[in-house]
Amino acid sequence: MSRTYSKREFLRLMGLGIAFMPFISCFDDEPSTDKPKTPAKEPKQKAGTAVTDQIAVTEEDVLMLSRNDAAYASFNTAFNKRIQHLPKYIAVCKTEKGVQFALQKAAAEQLKVAVKSGGHSFEGFSSNDRGMVINVSLMKQIRLISDNEIEIQPGCLLQDIQAYLFPKKKLLPSGSCGTVGIAGLALGGGYGFFSRKFGLTCDSLLQLRLVDASGTIRDTKDDETLLWACKGGGNGNFGAVTSFRFRVYNMPPTFDSYVLRFRNMTAERFANTLSAWFDVSNTLPDEAFGAYVLNGKTLTVLITTYKTYSGFAETIAPIADLADSKSVTLAASLPQAMKRYYGRKGPIFFKNASCGLYRDKEDILGIKDELFAQVSGNPGIVFQVNTLGGKINDPGFAAGSCYPHRHLPFLGELQAYWQQESQESRMTTTFEAIQTLFRDSGIKAHYRNYPDINFKDWETMYYGDHYARLQEVKRQYDPEDLFHYPQSIRL
Ligand SMILES: Cc1cc2nc3c(=O)[nH]c(=O)nc-3n(C[C@H](O)[C@H](O)[C@H](O)COP(=O)(O)OP(=O)(O)OC[C@H]3O[C@@H](n4cnc5c(N)ncnc54)[C@H](O)[C@@H]3O)c2cc1C
Repeated sequence: MSRTYSKREFLRLMGLGIAFMPFISCFDDEPSTDKPKTPAKEPKQKAGTAVTDQIAVTEEDVLMLSRNDAAYASFNTAFNKRIQHLPKYIAVCKTEKGVQFALQKAAAEQLKVAVKSGGHSFEGFSSNDRGMVINVSLMKQIRLISDNEIEIQPGCLLQDIQAYLFPKKKLLPSGSCGTVGIAGLALGGGYGFFSRKFGLTCDSLLQLRLVDASGTIRDTKDDETLLWACKGGGNGNFGAVTSFRFRVYNMPPTFDSYVLRFRNMTAERFANTLSAWFDVSNTLPDEAFGAYVLNGKTLTVLITTYKTYSGFAETIAPIADLADSKSVTLAASLPQAMKRYYGRKGPIFFKNASCGLYRDKEDILGIKDELFAQVSGNPGIVFQVNTLGGKINDPGFAAGSCYPHRHLPFLGELQAYWQQESQESRMTTTFEAIQTLFRDSGIKAHYRNYPDINFKDWETMYYGDHYARLQEVKRQYDPEDLFHYPQSIRL
């Protein structure tokens, strides 16, 4: 049974509060109380040793749940209520050895494998039907290993990492929504308030360990190509990641935000504000971030910076001066400010996807009238553009990762939210009609972490020219295509 929201709750869900990425779902929830753990003294197994014998495990390593087990249902939930799967087994892994055991069992029973950490995949790619799900959500250890490096297990959520790092005055540049998993986010790229200064989350990734399809532990310190492939193409393709080592930065102490509201939007006002927003975004310093969010006939523009610039108000004036109202918060404590964007814990009914990475406003101005008509005429549909650019386009980062779209400094995101299951067909039909507008206007690049199951040419849309090299990595670490979902890298 789907939950019915009160009018107040629904209005808030529909964007009368401020949030972003995805703008609506990411607002106004309590931070998790499920804290990361201090590391156990478990000796690490050597990477690279192939598993030939059956691994001996206990319940301290893995719980192998099947549909009759009471705990199955609670581990089978995901953030997106639209997508329901029924795997044969859910292997709740607590150790690397547990992951090895689960993979051995999947191979022996010829089951396809999906890997789940934070469970926020837009299209349910972290589960499957009749296969094996390796669920690493309980692997939540986290440890600062030096002044600028952190080791994190894949079950940590973004809010866990902030709760650990902020008291130490450190920052890992990532996304905003507190309940998103670091694993899925970093393996597909990862952007947020700090990306224009420090790059994508995957650009801070120094090393990882994964268990490949043969059950062998692999460490990227022995294979630079594997690290390259996991920075943007690592989601459930080559193995189950069991630990990450990231570079961290000094936490900026404060955060400024400018929230601009525009009501009763018309097609003409849409064109003018969109154009002004792109122009302002092109002049923002790397410490700043911007989002343009059209929700029905209401537009909200968010501009943030964590470095206070004299003249910042003048920089954003071309868009701010068009607004009906402004709410400005200066020098908020950064940890407090981040909590405002933690968002809902879900699950909720939605369909979100990339609607393109853009070079500039010219890429979408050609469809502005139809786009406005569709979004403003269909309550529950949201069109958003976020700033990327800045350090994301650093040539060193480009060389070290398979994320291919660094030259495209704007990310479009289409969102649809509804309350009752019966509304799904209408909402997804409208969604697809809008995606067709973008496709027909020549938009070809999309963000892997905002997937759409209906993208036909997803291999090049997500991975550009790097797809063939990713296939080579796939053949090396998963030659039988054990790790498989609708848009996993093919052999
Ligand atoms: C509410 C919301 C807010 C978001 N905000 C942002 C944002 O601010 N910035 C941004 O860049 N993205 C954002 N995203 C998108 C997000 O980055 C992706 O959905 C991401 O893949 C989620 O990771 P997860 O671990 O939570 O999800 P999961 O569903 O667990 O996994 C997602 C994918 O990663 C794979 N995967 C997960 N764990 C592992 C592992 N240990 N080893 C190998 N593969 C693994 C899965 O197989 C699956 O393909 C948001 C998504 C939602 C729903």
